[in-house]
Amino acid sequence: MSLTVLMNAGPWLSVPPPGYGGIENVIATLVPELRRLGVRVVLASVGTSTLPVEERLSVFDDGQFANLQRPYNQVCGVAQAHLNGVVRTLRERSDIDLVHDHVEAVGLATLAAMGPDGPPALHTLHWDLAKHPALYGHLDGGGRVRVNGVSASQLARAPRALREHSVGHVHLATPLAVDADRVPQPQKGDHAVILGRINPGKGQDVGARLAQRVGFPLVLAGPVGPYHRPEDLAAAGDEARQNPDARFFLDEVAPHVDGDRVRWVGTVAGAERDDLVASARVALFPLRWEEPGGTAVVEALALGTPVVATARGCLPELIEHGRTGLLTTDEEELGELVLAASVLEPAECRQVAASRFTPAVMAREYVQLYERVRQLATAP
Ligand code: UDP
Repeated sequence: MSLTVLMNAGPWLSVPPPGYGGIENVIATLVPELRRLGVRVVLASVGTSTLPVEERLSVFDDGQFANLQRPYNQVCGVAQAHLNGVVRTLRERSDIDLVHDHVEAVGLATLAAMGPDGPPALHTLHWDLAKHPALYGHLDGGGRVRVNGVSASQLARAPRALREHSVGHVHLATPLAVDADRVPQPQKGDHAVILGRINPGKGQDVGARLAQRVGFPLVLAGPVGPYHRPEDLAAAGDEARQNPDARFFLDEVAPHVDGDRVRWVGTVAGAERDDLVASARVALFPLRWEEPGGTAVVEALALGTPVVATARGCLPELIEHGRTGLLTTDEEELGELVLAASVLEPAECRQVAASRFTPAVMAREYVQLYERVRQLATAP
């Protein structure tokens, strides 16, 4: 296939990211598979990115993540400086067939503003959009700029202006999704795990309370705001309370964390993260927000761990109730479901992940969307 795609990762983190970095991880998972399918990739990110591609361009030498904590107008200023570099490149050359953009709001608006001379563009939505209709209320790319979601439920909740420009959704994938025969399933322990940012939307307070009431061991893994280790949070003392996620942890979660039945282990990464999830009997998601894409959900399936979750956001699309997990709309029932989930088969979870959530599946679906976006851009 002779297709050249400018992949706009934005100015925040290098690709692949050094640690946390959801969007940058998606790009690092997608690009090698696109190149295997013959797509040429020009990566627009920062100077420290190491992902192998045909070409790179950057405005900033390294990731501007720290600037994301600044006031919103400064955040937009950094994003816009990066986008101006992308636009200059697009105006200078004619060999870019399509832009695949991942820079929320600013990327989409800038590409739309390029007018009829700009290339066809696909913007991937990465967030729960229902709360920010104003950011997307005036999208007009003259039929040239399209969006895709990371789940059907995310799109269904999106503002109308976005849905009118949508070409569908592509579920998130994980490189952990491999043929179940190739890697043996580790021994299962007794614990349930909640993997993710500690945040009211992810519902660690509910999980911790139910673990104590119903009586199952629970490991909470993930950062509390900027604090990656329990020692760091403890050392911050009262200053930590300035961060809303730290306040949530200290007030709502910590009272149930006894270091025995319920533990918080901080951020886990690499083999330690995979072992923790693969050896868990259940991956628990007591969600209070409408989870848009759920990377940690597909990772759990890929590691052979059934999912117990509130039926919110993309969960009913990713989980087959009774086969790869158990879902409920009643959060009080989650504790009993953790116990009931022991009848679900790890091998089933891995088979489903290996057929639905591999990087190769994701890349094939994106190539189809690229073709659709290019067709729509040239349609009379
Ligand atoms: N993650 C991790 N270590 C942790 C907690 C989370 O590596 O301690 C990873 C997790 O494996 C997943 C990502 O962070 O790849 C979270 O993505 P998800 O879509 O589940 O949640 P988000 O934070 O984007 O809402």
